[in-house]
Amino acid sequence: MRYLLQRPLPDEILTSALVRTCVQFDVAIKPLLNAIGVNPGSPGFFHMSKIAAYAQVFRMDPTDLLNQATVFPSLVAFQPGDRRMAFEMAATQGIAIPGVQLSALQSTTAFVPYRRLCSKCVRTDKARYGWAYWHVSHHLPGVTLCARHGTRLRETTLTTSSGRGRWSYQLPEVVDSTLPAARPGRFDLELNRLALGIQAGEVQLASDALPLRFYRCALERAGLVAEDRQVNASAARAWVAGHLQGLAGSSGLLRCDPSLAWVDLILRDRPGVPFAACKHLIIQAALASTERPAAATLNHKSTGFRGRPLGDLDVVKAAELDARIRMRLKSPARFTLQEEMEALGVWSAFRHSRHKYPALSKVVARHRAAMQRRKTRVIGVSGTGRRTDSSGATDEQHVT
Ligand SMILES: [Zn+2]
Repeated sequence: MRYLLQRPLPDEILTSALVRTCVQFDVAIKPLLNAIGVNPGSPGFFHMSKIAAYAQVFRMDPTDLLNQATVFPSLVAFQPGDRRMAFEMAATQGIAIPGVQLSALQSTTAFVPYRRLCSKCVRTDKARYGWAYWHVSHHLPGVTLCARHGTRLRETTLTTSSGRGRWSYQLPEVVDSTLPAARPGRFDLELNRLALGIQAGEVQLASDALPLRFYRCALERAGLVAEDRQVNASAARAWVAGHLQGLAGSSGLLRCDPSLAWVDLILRDRPGVPFAACKHLIIQAALASTERPAAATLNHKSTGFRGRPLGDLDVVKAAELDARIRMRLKSPARFTLQEEMEALGVWSAFRHSRHKYPALSKVVARHRAAMQRRKTRVIGVSGTGRRTDSSGATDEQHVT
């Protein structure tokens, strides 16, 4: 049965070729996968494991198959070289290296929750190949337009996630879809260009570990923050949210993380934490499509912590810290107490004389257990490898 398997057509995603095989020969997915020697339980739309087994049937090079028929290249674009290699081994050979499981990359389903199609592609593919099929380039995180036709992609109700009952034998021509209302703007076009570029290896972005102050320097160059000022976290989130709201396609990212809590983390001087490629693309597209402001708009405003009655400030800042920690705990992104308190401008004063800040101390004590539990869980879920970066600091490795 394995030789029934159809080779992916140009820009066809691997799972689409599996669906076509099932439809053409009237076989179910489970026996087909068993015949190939792949048994991933319930494959999701972005299925990309045991690539070597498929490549053998197709008589293709496993790396070529991985790069052409899955979204893998765009997912690993910002991973350090050694981790990228490890992910590739995991995908092609199924070789698991501790801390580098493929699942750490597969937040793709959160960024692209539903399958998409281009109605022009449906017609031309059908005419040319006899099949309308699911395209790789329509499902890259950050892409909202068809690369071939420039048209806005339509969104279907078919999920991309894995799990029981999620597999679908439907191909684009029989699926209902809707066209997003918004027209693409400058940010949207830039995001599409970058997302397609990293998948094709045509856009060279800093893909090994980004320099320590990469985004910080970029913000200064763009005139968005002054050299001697911290980045204002909420202004930075509002800046990114403003761009995302105008997107032509629905943004899975906003849906799964409406608070955009990751924005101020990625903009800080903080090496060693790999962020999902899509988040890098969003920041870089925002930088490219923001006009230089007359005055820096992302400057952190002085909190006036000194020189005001301590008791009042303690209470006010305690309430703010409480809200921040609650919000952070809702999102899977990592955070530290120090960062949160620095953002409020109270870290150094608090650290040196905690007894002067009873309300803040109470908030810290209240959340300590939850923060501790969350830390353990997050690391447990997405990998436990530790790595030493160029500055000598170590950090847990997972994709935030
Ligand atoms: Zn198209």
